[in-house]
Amino acid sequence: MADLAAIIDDIAAEMADAPDRGTVASYIPPLAAVDPRRFGIAVVTADGRECIAGDGDMAFSIQSVSKVFALTLALGAVGDQLWRRVGVEPSGSAFNSVVQLESEHGIPRNPFINAGAIVVTDILLGHHEPREAIGEMLRFVRMLAGDDAIYIDEAVARAEQDTGFRNMALANYMRSFGNLDQAAERVLGVYFHHCALAMSCRQLARAGRFLMAGGRNPDTGHNIVSARRARRINALMLTCGHYDGSGEFAFRVGMAGKSGVGGGILAVVPGIASIAVWSPGLNERGNSQLGTLALERLVQRTGWSIFDPRVF
Ligand code: GLU
Repeated sequence: MADLAAIIDDIAAEMADAPDRGTVASYIPPLAAVDPRRFGIAVVTADGRECIAGDGDMAFSIQSVSKVFALTLALGAVGDQLWRRVGVEPSGSAFNSVVQLESEHGIPRNPFINAGAIVVTDILLGHHEPREAIGEMLRFVRMLAGDDAIYIDEAVARAEQDTGFRNMALANYMRSFGNLDQAAERVLGVYFHHCALAMSCRQLARAGRFLMAGGRNPDTGHNIVSARRARRINALMLTCGHYDGSGEFAFRVGMAGKSGVGGGILAVVPGIASIAVWSPGLNERGNSQLGTLALERLVQRTGWSIFDPRVF
């Protein structure tokens, strides 16, 4: 394999020239205003190397990538009981679909569609005040990344709150089935804030290291989660992390990955690397167009797909 830093630089240069960059999310002004020419990538390897290229140090809205960290915290709070309220199957329908919830009695298919992440956030909230739960999430990702500069973009959180009618509908609908303990407004206040986490690719790749390392925080050597739980979170990222584009992501890239509507993707190859890419233009499934292409090229040049025998 060629030098990793050179591979990352080459990919960033190729993405700078890419003609088809997808469409930037426009449902809230702070996301619509992001420059579609942005592209960043960060790779952190199991042996501690960090390679960054393009806009890899620029903060962006991680949006649904935060669902991975919310799930990790909620599992820490209630353990496997969580799976009584949320499923582990790919949804095959839009990330904010209401239809499936009705036929499945208010139990969301998985923790990465909006309904599932809202239940996870309800668990996270537990008996806390919303601002305490938001603070806990922020402290958690700062600790995972080893970086206290990570922040929540209040303008994004406010804009989500102003336009989040469908999320409000999903939350209230689940409450009608008894699958939401707290009032929808309280839960969504926390949900919108964790979706509004602003992180750079470097920070995000660092925050994903525990999933690369069997649950262990490489900075401290302590376990964030057990190896079994890390494996399960990775499995859910692979099967459900890109909404109904998850099959295509597994087919083209073959890493455990979670995308967000801000154009970020966290991708994990257990034992090998934690990778974050960001390019705000989305494909028709709502996943980063160039982020996916960049990961596909990274796999071609490194053999880092989880399905590639060279890894093992
Ligand atoms: N905050 C967004 C929402 O709930 C997240 C969506 C996403 O990243 O896919 O609509």
